[in-house]
Amino acid sequence: MPSRLITTPNTSISENLESVITRIRLASEATGRNDDVTLVAVTKTLSEDPIKLALAAGQRTFGENRVQEAQAKWPSLKASYSDIRLHLIGPLQTNKIRAAVSIGDVIETVDRPKVARALAIEIERSGRSPDCYVQINIGEEPQKSGVLPNEADDFIVECCRNFQLPVKGLMCIPPNGQEPSLYFALLRKIARRNGLPRLSMGMSHDFETAIDFGSTEVRIGTAIFGARSSR
Ligand SMILES: *Cc1c(COP(=O)(O)O)cnc(C)c1O
Repeated sequence: MPSRLITTPNTSISENLESVITRIRLASEATGRNDDVTLVAVTKTLSEDPIKLALAAGQRTFGENRVQEAQAKWPSLKASYSDIRLHLIGPLQTNKIRAAVSIGDVIETVDRPKVARALAIEIERSGRSPDCYVQINIGEEPQKSGVLPNEADDFIVECCRNFQLPVKGLMCIPPNGQEPSLYFALLRKIARRNGLPRLSMGMSHDFETAIDFGSTEVRIGTAIFGARSSR
């Protein structure tokens, strides 16, 4: 009897990637922009196998939200693919800064002076200088990390002037279950008035809206790899 197996996880990850990339292109064409939107494939909780499938399909930019997990998974993958770029997108503790600077190419979640200072010291010490984004708590939610919108300008200036961090952009996660447009528009406004070019906003369920509001990188897990059990 012939095999009745018609789909495998392999094809679905590469197909999902292709369809997400197409949707990103269509959304960015619809805004009339000609700059590229970067797809950050979020691999938190995933083992190496699905990550290797994404690499085989050509994906090179990835996101992890825990430094320790990133440290366990990415050094060997980076040794095999020299053009991988890893974004750290989760809350940072000062005792993980050394590891974060050694593994991260973009640190998206600078959110308080203590972290900014520790990053500055470690960048100086190690000579490695990942791009930094400031995380904004755009919906002013008590359970979320990030700088409050009305404190953003002062904190960005502090990061650039006092700590001389290479701040390139802003990142946010809008409140769950709410229409995200106003939050994306506010993040763009804060970035523009501070002269920051990069905007990390948009996830599986809202990335097309985020691109409409000027996102330059979308962080997408579920739409590529399927549902996670947690986080
Ligand atoms: C998990 C995570 C994502 C990806 O979310 P999906 O809904 O799976 O696309 C994006 N950003 C951050 C900060 C995350 O922690």
